[in-house]
Formats: sequence, C-alpha cells, structure tokens
Amino acid sequence: MTSETALALPASPREHLSSPVTRSVLRIQHRMLTATREFLSGQGFTELLPPIIGPVTDPGARGAKQVDVDYYGHRYKLMTSAILYKQASLTAFDKIFCIAPNVRLEPLETANTSRHLAEFHQIDVEVANASRESIMSVAEGLVAAVVRGVVDHLPAELELLGRDAGAFADLLAGSFERRTHATAVADLHSLGHDQSPDAEIDWAGEALLSRKSSKPFFVTDYPKGSRGFYDRENEQLPGFLRNFDLIAPEGYGELCSGSERENGYATIVARMRETGENPAKYGWYLRMVRDGIPPSAGFGIGLERFTRYVAGLDSVWQASAYPKVPGVVLP
Ligand code: AMP
Ligand code: MG
Repeated sequence: MTSETALALPASPREHLSSPVTRSVLRIQHRMLTATREFLSGQGFTELLPPIIGPVTDPGARGAKQVDVDYYGHRYKLMTSAILYKQASLTAFDKIFCIAPNVRLEPLETANTSRHLAEFHQIDVEVANASRESIMSVAEGLVAAVVRGVVDHLPAELELLGRDAGAFADLLAGSFERRTHATAVADLHSLGHDQSPDAEIDWAGEALLSRKSSKPFFVTDYPKGSRGFYDRENEQLPGFLRNFDLIAPEGYGELCSGSERENGYATIVARMRETGENPAKYGWYLRMVRDGIPPSAGFGIGLERFTRYVAGLDSVWQASAYPKVPGVVLP
C-alpha cells in the first residue's frame, strides 16, 4: 500500500543514480519498456518517435501550464501529450505506438502528491477503426504482459525493493473489472466521499477506490466537460464520452487514460470551441482532419506511474533517473 508522507528527495544526482534502489527501479523500467515493445510489435504495431516540439499541443492537462519554445521566431510548445500526432500518424499505419516525453508545469501543490512530475513519459498507443472495447483489451493485455515480464525476469530486483510479487496474482489471473464513471461516483458517495458527477474522479476519491481493489480496474464513460475535445461523445448517451481510465490498485491510482477519438472536422471544431480552445491555433491538425483521418481509439500509460506501481515505490520521482518534481529546481 502507498504511504501518505512525501519521501525526501536525494541530495544529488550522484546519490540518486548510484543508489541500489534506483538501479533496481531502472532495471525494472527497462524490462517494462522491452516487454512493451515485444508485446506491441508482436501485435503488428509500428513504433514511431514522436515530436517533442510543435506549433500546438494537447490542451487537456488539468491545471498544468504549457511551455513555450522560440522556434525561429514562431511560438512553439513542448508536448504535453502526443495525441494530435497519434491521430495524424494513422494516415501512415493502422496501429502505432510511441514512448513519448511530456512536459507539464503542474501546479506547485502537486509536488507532494507522490504521483506528479513536470517531465514524464507515456506509452502511447493508437489504432485505426478500433472501438473502445477493443483498445481496452489492448491496454489490459499490455499491462499484464509488462507485469509478467518483470515478475518472470526480475524477481531479485522486486525482492530488493520489498515488492511482493504476490501483489500481482489477481492481475495476472484474469481480466480487469469495468465500471462506469456514474457507478464510481455512486460508490464514492456510499463511502462518504463528496465526488462531483460532472468531473474527473478527484485524487482523494481515486485513492479511495484504488485502495479497495486488488488489481487494476477500468472506469468508463466520463462526462463530456471533464475531458479534451478529442474524446468521442457517445451518440446513444449524449453528454458522456466513449473513454476510460485504468486505475492501479493499492492506492497507486490512475495509470492510463484512453478513448475512442473524434475524427469529424465539424465536431472537433465545435468541441474545441466548447472547451475554450481557439481552432485557429490548430492549423496543421485541422487541415489533416478536414482532409480525412481514420476513426480510432487509443490510450496513454504514464510510464513512471506504471513503474511506481510495479516496483511498489513511495513516490513517482523514484521511477525517473533525472526526476523533475513540480517547482523543484533539479537537473
Ligand atoms: P492524461 O492525459 O492527463 O490522462 O495523462 C495520461 C497519463 O500520463 C496519466 O494516466 C498518467 O499515468 C500520466 N501522467 C499525467 N500527468 C502526469 C504527471 N504530472 N506526472 C506523471 N505522470 C503523469
Ligand atoms: Mg488522465
């Protein structure tokens, strides 16, 4: 189980990098990346290297600030997520993935949540013509394959970290539970937690649900206002999205967000306006959409959060060789 107190940062990069704990964590992360590439390549995915800068990036990063870059006199952004490029890449291949760096200047109050970094990576997956259900199966299979890879190959590293491999018995035994956002809200109300039905599950609520579970579980059908313009709205259930989160057990919380995507030009422009985004900023992306991109579904798993869960770490910064904790000046 995760603890509530924030772990002190190491005194120097040397102390962090040479500690046996960091070495074990990074070996586990390496194995996780290897297992990810084996699993997805085996299923016919092509790995692409995602851009780090571009004229525009994902606006949907709750409360986080974007970083501007001066690109020959043009204002570019560091990527907060690869979503726009993932959709565009489906004009090259039907099944793509990338290990994508993201920079989000998260609010200062996230420095002690044990799960926020200002720089992190996502295992980003996108599939043309896929349904939410089929992409959730890919996420489930990927998480199981990665955990299996670590449990089978690195028992000594898990032991050194005090992580009992038995913690993954339920995860490896079968499929993950699915519940709707509305059910999760009702579950939280019955636990005495005041969760808004119109918003993403708040951190305290997510931790409560996470602690009650012994394996990851999906939450589906988030309300429209809670997510970016690219999550497809459910035609049968207006106001709700064909999306999902995957929540890790034992208090580790959100691992992954995903959805079926909007790919219609008029809908995307309308959704941008509804979410306060100026479509004029999204020139290259909207031109691609106007000329046609396939319908798709995909997800992004936060690599450092996934590593934190697998390695049983107190804090997400332990899952990075050069952690950037929000607001802390670090190399
Ligand atoms: P989001 O687009 O906000 O749903 O982010 C996708 C995934 O990236 C999340 O499910 C997390 O696993 C991970 N993530 C998001 N923000 C952060 C952060 N500040 N630090 C570390 N991981 C993050
Ligand atoms: Mg999310």
